[in-house]
Amino acid sequence: MQDRPLALPHVFHRAEQYFGHKPLVTAEVDGERTTTIAEWAERVRRLATVLDTLDVSADGRVGTFGWNTARHLELYMAAPCSGRVLHTLNIRLFPEQLVYIANHAEDEVVFVDRSLLPLLWPLVDRFETVRHYVVIDDGADVPVPDDPRVHDYEALLAAATPFAGDFVVADENTAAAMCYTSGTTGNPKGVVYSHRSAVLHALITLIADGAALSEHDVVMPVVPMFHANAWGLPYGCLLAGSSIVFPGPNMTPQAVARLLERHRVTVTGGVPTIWMGMLPLLADHDLTPLRTILCGGSAVPRALSESYREAIGVPMLHAWGMTETSPIATMSVLRSHHAELAEAERADLRARQGQPVPLVDLRLVDPGTGEIQPWDDVTSGEIQAAGPWIAAEYYRGEGGGAQFTEDGWLRTGDVAAVDRYGSVRLVDRTKDLIKSGGEWIGSVELENEIMAHPKVAEAAVIAIPHEKWVERPLACVVVKPGETLTAEEVIAHLEPRVAKWWLPDAVEFIDEVPKTSVGKFSKKTLREKFGGYQVPGQTPVT
Ligand code: ADP
Repeated sequence: MQDRPLALPHVFHRAEQYFGHKPLVTAEVDGERTTTIAEWAERVRRLATVLDTLDVSADGRVGTFGWNTARHLELYMAAPCSGRVLHTLNIRLFPEQLVYIANHAEDEVVFVDRSLLPLLWPLVDRFETVRHYVVIDDGADVPVPDDPRVHDYEALLAAATPFAGDFVVADENTAAAMCYTSGTTGNPKGVVYSHRSAVLHALITLIADGAALSEHDVVMPVVPMFHANAWGLPYGCLLAGSSIVFPGPNMTPQAVARLLERHRVTVTGGVPTIWMGMLPLLADHDLTPLRTILCGGSAVPRALSESYREAIGVPMLHAWGMTETSPIATMSVLRSHHAELAEAERADLRARQGQPVPLVDLRLVDPGTGEIQPWDDVTSGEIQAAGPWIAAEYYRGEGGGAQFTEDGWLRTGDVAAVDRYGSVRLVDRTKDLIKSGGEWIGSVELENEIMAHPKVAEAAVIAIPHEKWVERPLACVVVKPGETLTAEEVIAHLEPRVAKWWLPDAVEFIDEVPKTSVGKFSKKTLREKFGGYQVPGQTPVT
């Protein structure tokens, strides 16, 4: 067979050649902007020469700091097709993390949505390698700094000559894109996607026993384009020829529901928090064309999926993965042998994380002994993953060699039981992190801040379930002998030290933090103790 590279230029040329008439819609601050794939492709060609004009190195990192927009999709293609590496910066990270990441990746240019300038601009003097800031004007009423490093996106495109001919990336193992993921402790770690992994992963969004993206679809990725390449949906859509609707900066449930209805969206994807927020609005919107809601990033509550099924006939398509797995690793799709089951049992199955998609291998391993565990749906162990779009290491081999086994599998830090058909059911997490609304909160960092309080002897922070955010932090605090401390004082102490959305929802005072046999905090014991924890005044989790 011919040895042809699996590379993104193929995806670009395919979209340009066959799907030029298909629309790309972006919701902006002051209305909607509609273009076609043909116009988009011409702009991608211009953007590729803009990167040359800006003197971005042949394999330089191109940072983006943006919402989900068609212009972000231009960067998604122009950077990798011209040999550069797309680096999507997560707009929700703390300033220190952003500075670390941009410097670690050695971003040479950052493309920033005008509405996000207030978040980015205060940091630029700490970015050591960025030479240019290109402002994408999304209509926001935000001043653009008068600075020689600042350029206007549209002005650069207008002045550029479109790259002519075919884009070529000869080696499919060349880096195409990168994303950083939070570490439990220490610095974020970079995951680098290759052209090969991006193309193969895009194909997976097309499989029938999955999201099944096709040319007939209108797809709205609500999951941010800075979260593991929006779960591969943008590249998948270009490969399939689907129309795309980008929600832009307004991600309120009302705005999302309006877009789904107005554009007759058939496939969408986002974290559970988005869909929880939209639940009360379902009755007021005609979402008849919608057939698939891809949902993951956190466990999808059974009740949420069922509420959607009852209201609009579409349950969530539950998927599991992580930045290191590109991210799609499993999808919960009912099989032929489930056809006769009662609806309640089918709902139970849909609440599982699901079976590995083709080309992904999983195994269940006892974290203590390293022994492979049986798939009996009872025995639990850590899920390890292997496959062509699963990371083999972190960028520059840093920060987490321990996360890869000697025989080349990724330790996911997720604990699961697996049934005999390979369906994964997550039961716990070994990584010390809390996932709130799809974003990570570092429990260890919170603990360290609390333990810095002079009256605190020990503190452990665990996740408790939350109706909207899925998980929220609970601080378990041990006060020093002879001292008194209130929950309000703990929160007041944290306020200047951590982001507002990191503040624990509740503080519990305990006599001692339970320890493991080697003297580490036993979060497992705490999680068991506070399993059904109910924060006073909050909606109970069903
Ligand atoms: P993403 O950008 O896809 O959220 P991250 O790398 O930030 O990826 O987070 C991955 C982690 O999120 C997983 O290891 C797991 O702990 C959690 N997660 C992702 N999907 C699910 C799911 N469907 N159910 C439970 N936890 C999930």
